[in-house]
Amino acid sequence: MHTHIMPREMPDFARKFGYGDFIMLNHVEPGMANMMQGRRFFRKITENCWNPEMRIAEYEQFNTQVQVVCTIPVLFSYWAKPEDGAEVARFLNDDIAKSIEPFKKNYVGLGTLPMQDTDLAIKELQRCKELGFPGVQIGSNINDKNLDEPEFYPIFEACQDLGMAVFVHPWNMMGMDQMKKYWLPWLVGMPAETSRAICSMVFAGIFEKLPDLRVCFAHSGGSFIPTIGRIEHGFNCRPDLVAIDNDVNPRDYLGKFWVDCITHDADALKCIIDKVGSEKVCLGSDYPFPLGDLEIGKFIEDMNLPEKDRNNIFCHSSLDWLGNPLNL
Ligand SMILES: [Zn+2]
Repeated sequence: MHTHIMPREMPDFARKFGYGDFIMLNHVEPGMANMMQGRRFFRKITENCWNPEMRIAEYEQFNTQVQVVCTIPVLFSYWAKPEDGAEVARFLNDDIAKSIEPFKKNYVGLGTLPMQDTDLAIKELQRCKELGFPGVQIGSNINDKNLDEPEFYPIFEACQDLGMAVFVHPWNMMGMDQMKKYWLPWLVGMPAETSRAICSMVFAGIFEKLPDLRVCFAHSGGSFIPTIGRIEHGFNCRPDLVAIDNDVNPRDYLGKFWVDCITHDADALKCIIDKVGSEKVCLGSDYPFPLGDLEIGKFIEDMNLPEKDRNNIFCHSSLDWLGNPLNL
């Protein structure tokens, strides 16, 4: 339920809008492209980033039949002017819908929203529903604003009302400028980002106000679950700082939201299952990127989990989170 896809060609949005480091692709050789952020090289990607047929064949090697696809967070473009961001989102959403249309049994799409503008985001959310997506992916922060900011609440409310699931993915990692070496934004920043998102939503009481909102957090919820003891202790010892908007213990939310299984570590995953229950742990891979679990689910196969837990992780949890999009 956590894989990334992008269009084979990106329009020259920078030229069209007259500003900004929008993502472009330079196809340098067959099956390989340089992803450019303005003039800066961002990363090399291969054909499985944009070719739906090739992805199905690669997935079959791991006995996986269905991929939930969403855009690559660097394409969110939340920093763009609202109307321009909305145009980028429409382009990306239409592209996903078109790419997966011939392969309905193999794909479920998640949309992206121009989160920099509440009204435009809700408008695009409605369009995502019309395109047949069961949910949307959003960033762990929106231009450095946390998800508890009042401007995002109507979007979450609309997600609940429309029955649209939400996938929260880390991006625009805090501390990027202070940790340029050793891939630290991905190794240290991403887990912290996801905890930042969960804490913001929990402490703001969003899950209290919107009990039917279905949210899944990437990378097993980042550092939130492993540090829940500290977060709970902080809530108890300094309620004047922590419990100002919601007086419910953050531990009570374990088991109310979903996470993916991307831990790369059997003991860590056991702990996650212990804390939230296997019915809230979904099979994610972060395919096709190298930091993902590219031998999809193999470490879980090797864990000898009870059949019920395996079935939840490999299938049922994702269907529950997404509201059974395949009508199984
Ligand atoms: Zn990802």
